[in-house]
Amino acid sequence: MHPLKIVLAEPRGFCAGVDRAVDIIDLTVQAFDPPIYCRKEIVHNRHVVDGFIEKGVKFVEELDEVPDGATVVFSAHGVSPEIWNQARARNLNVIDATCPLVTKVHLEVLSFVRKGYGILYIGHRRHDEVVGVLGEAPVAVQLIENVEEARLVEVPDAKRVVCLTQTTLSVDDTTEIMTVLAERFPEMVRPSKSDICYATQNRQEAVKEVAREVDLLLVLGSQNSSNSNRLVDVARSCGTPSYLIHGVDDIEESWLDDVRAIGLSSGASTPEILVQRVVDYLKSRGDAEISTLQVAREDVTFRLPPQLAALSPA
Ligand code: SF4
Repeated sequence: MHPLKIVLAEPRGFCAGVDRAVDIIDLTVQAFDPPIYCRKEIVHNRHVVDGFIEKGVKFVEELDEVPDGATVVFSAHGVSPEIWNQARARNLNVIDATCPLVTKVHLEVLSFVRKGYGILYIGHRRHDEVVGVLGEAPVAVQLIENVEEARLVEVPDAKRVVCLTQTTLSVDDTTEIMTVLAERFPEMVRPSKSDICYATQNRQEAVKEVAREVDLLLVLGSQNSSNSNRLVDVARSCGTPSYLIHGVDDIEESWLDDVRAIGLSSGASTPEILVQRVVDYLKSRGDAEISTLQVAREDVTFRLPPQLAALSPA
């Protein structure tokens, strides 16, 4: 019998924004008196969140669950100005873990609004990042979730319209929507570089390459992780069966029938340990050959917020 080929997609797992958010909440726990609160999941991964719950962090959905004057971390996905205003009014000590690439989109929205542009924003309505961006300019920003909406949307001034996107979508999906919008609004401004972040692009490229070489591709990530879900979409669009799993326990034996090569990747908020547990499990089932397919090197890092920079060992 042939050994099972296990192909690891590279890059995979934590991106610079998640690394930073995890460092921020870790340093906040060390630097400030408990209890430390975090509004929303710090990143969309249950394993990461459970780790911080064990360290005493209290995760809340909204700020009214946080006592006046307490320390609260804002998650990597960013918040709307309304949430910042609530925090100031309640005298909360805010440590902001918003990814700088998400902040960049917030600033782009504000800049285009000042110039009188209408904004078409491609994203998923209920995602925390999208809620924060929409909150910057609820009247000027129109959300586009799919090609159908792109065909129907109307803008006040077709000469002053710009398209922006959520950072963690599938590059292919946004291209399709953007093409429809560009046909309808030929003068539409596209940001010089897509807002889809480097980590999302690299993980999707790696999955595309691996998907071509395997019979099955598993993506480690939580159900509410946008970028992890998009990795599954990308693999499937290559014709390769693919499933999103939170961990090794989610693997169904029937998926592995007749599989001679299996690809593994993980979303930008997934700790590497979860991938390694799957590798160990697959190795425990019989002979396995492990290889890595790397499509890009990443050396991006983001600075910590000023309140915490002095505490970082780096
Ligand atoms: S996926 Fe991209 S935008 Fe999201 S946290 Fe990571 S680096 Fe930032």
